[in-house]
Amino acid sequence: MSGKNRKKLSTELIHTGDGQFCKELAKTASVPETFPVYLTSVFAFDDVASVDAVYERTSGSYLYSRMANPNADAVSRILAAAEGSEGAKALVFASGMAAITTAVLSFVKTGDHILASSVLYGGVYDYFANELPRFGVEVTFADLAREDAAHLIRPNTKLIYTETIGNPLMEVPDLADLSKAARARGPLLFVDNTFATPVIAKPLELGADIALYSATKYLGGHSDVTLGAVTGRGPLIDAIKRFQTLYGATAGPADCWLLARSLRTLELRVKKHSENALRVARFLESHPKVERVFYPGLPASPFHERAKRQFTDGGFGGMLSADIRGGEKEASALIEALETIRFVPSLAGTATTVSYPVKTSHRSYSAEALKKAGIAKGQLRFSIGLEDADNIIGELSRALDRI
Ligand SMILES: *Cc1c(COP(=O)(O)O)cnc(C)c1O
Repeated sequence: MSGKNRKKLSTELIHTGDGQFCKELAKTASVPETFPVYLTSVFAFDDVASVDAVYERTSGSYLYSRMANPNADAVSRILAAAEGSEGAKALVFASGMAAITTAVLSFVKTGDHILASSVLYGGVYDYFANELPRFGVEVTFADLAREDAAHLIRPNTKLIYTETIGNPLMEVPDLADLSKAARARGPLLFVDNTFATPVIAKPLELGADIALYSATKYLGGHSDVTLGAVTGRGPLIDAIKRFQTLYGATAGPADCWLLARSLRTLELRVKKHSENALRVARFLESHPKVERVFYPGLPASPFHERAKRQFTDGGFGGMLSADIRGGEKEASALIEALETIRFVPSLAGTATTVSYPVKTSHRSYSAEALKKAGIAKGQLRFSIGLEDADNIIGELSRALDRI
């Protein structure tokens, strides 16, 4: 058993059952019932002409996973379909912030202006307030859920940026109105649809140009994956794609696979989150130790009618905030009195969790900005999970009794 061409162990271990096995698999009569994970950073070609064809865009073959990977494409297809919008395309990113920063950078340059909601996810606010000005992009903040945006648009305004359900005050801007103002004057309308998901709201259908997601939240839904996504019409998504490849904000194939798996149950999960959250909101609203509840599903919310008009039949989401009577001392005591509801500075998992905006997500806000926004020292934000609603309410009730 010798001979120069006999493959040695290391060679066999490297080449046997490698990617070439896919060619054999492609000839079999069955396909996997679920889409497999393509854990490959790069793709092999049979000849030079095939590579030429990819670069010259006459073939759509995969080449390098930073540019495109089957798992990223598979999950993008699901996300685009979920928007229910004609011609919608999607891209997945390594995180929500990667999706947002890359999408914004794709459309602004020095000298441009962005009009943004004054209450935003903390990381996005930080990026707008402290990072973009370094590149000569000016951002002004306004209460886009209450103020008329039209007179705030300048000749150099390239983007209007808002959230379907604002964080943490659960404010609901009128997306159709914002879209009308944007269309009349030129800027693109970007809407962070993380809290709503396509189960509750479809920003593209309401006139937004780009919907943005932290897929780390409800789209993933199990607190086990960090990803982001953007959806929009083809040409806009193609423009963002160039920057995604350039900046390298690509999502890994295994994470994309997890997200695809999670999306199968998105509608079920979000509807149950909404149902549970409405019950918890009603309970908290009637509790003497709670000063105010922020939830668009409550008729007392100033955004209830607009949300009813704008949202689909998925309810009002799983996120709500509550001002605990007293302030910081009482809010901290409540967090400590809870049993299974843990202090988790994120949201949208299967378990009910509590967060403290002034200490976590909105830490980058100055005292003045917090006051202006209406984010109180005693304000807690709850992410209502998929447990039995009576159990969630029972636990909150016991904890409130103890403070
Ligand atoms: C979490 C979050 C983000 C940022 O997403 P990451 O996945 O953490 O990068 C953006 N917007 C909203 C509304 C969020 O909740």
